[in-house]
Amino acid sequence: MHVKPGVLELYIGPMKSGKTLAAIHRVEGLNYRDDVDFIFVKPKLDVREVGVTSRFGARQYDPVVADHEHPGCLYELLRPWHRVVVIDELQFFGEGIVPVIRQLLVGGMNIIGAGLDTNFRGEPFGYMPHLVGLASEVQKHTSVCEVAGCNTDAPLTQRLIDGQPAPYDSPEILVGDAEEGYEPRCIRHHEVPMLEPS
Ligand SMILES: [Zn+2]
Repeated sequence: MHVKPGVLELYIGPMKSGKTLAAIHRVEGLNYRDDVDFIFVKPKLDVREVGVTSRFGARQYDPVVADHEHPGCLYELLRPWHRVVVIDELQFFGEGIVPVIRQLLVGGMNIIGAGLDTNFRGEPFGYMPHLVGLASEVQKHTSVCEVAGCNTDAPLTQRLIDGQPAPYDSPEILVGDAEEGYEPRCIRHHEVPMLEPS
């Protein structure tokens, strides 16, 4: 388990591709070191779960909830003794996340991020492409297409509204809509009605 000061490591991919677990696995070893403190951050938008339990250990990772619309809040969440920060659902962080990440890296922080690289349209999600550019290490994870009988490698995330593919003009981030669902899809089965062929 190495701490890499000033290095951004990213785990990206669609839903259910094990990104968060990979990030947790990356820092699991830090639990056995007394000399390294880390913090686990997730955006307040993501309320699906309160704690994140690692498959690799019994430790509960209690996330600190950040206001993703104001990424500058990360400065206040971090303490001088934190040497590593894990940020989950990085795609939800809004304008300002790129300079904040950059500043933290300049300050010597080791940042480990997990997030969706593409939105439901199959296009770059938020500032993820910029963050990929700042990263030293990027691991793309994939899932398995959930269309019956397919079982092909799934690099994309399908949004469903009332069981139907969400149209292209649906907002990038939907909040509090109980009827929406997401599943990993292969490229052949990824459907975005109204998508203009280019
Ligand atoms: Zn498929």
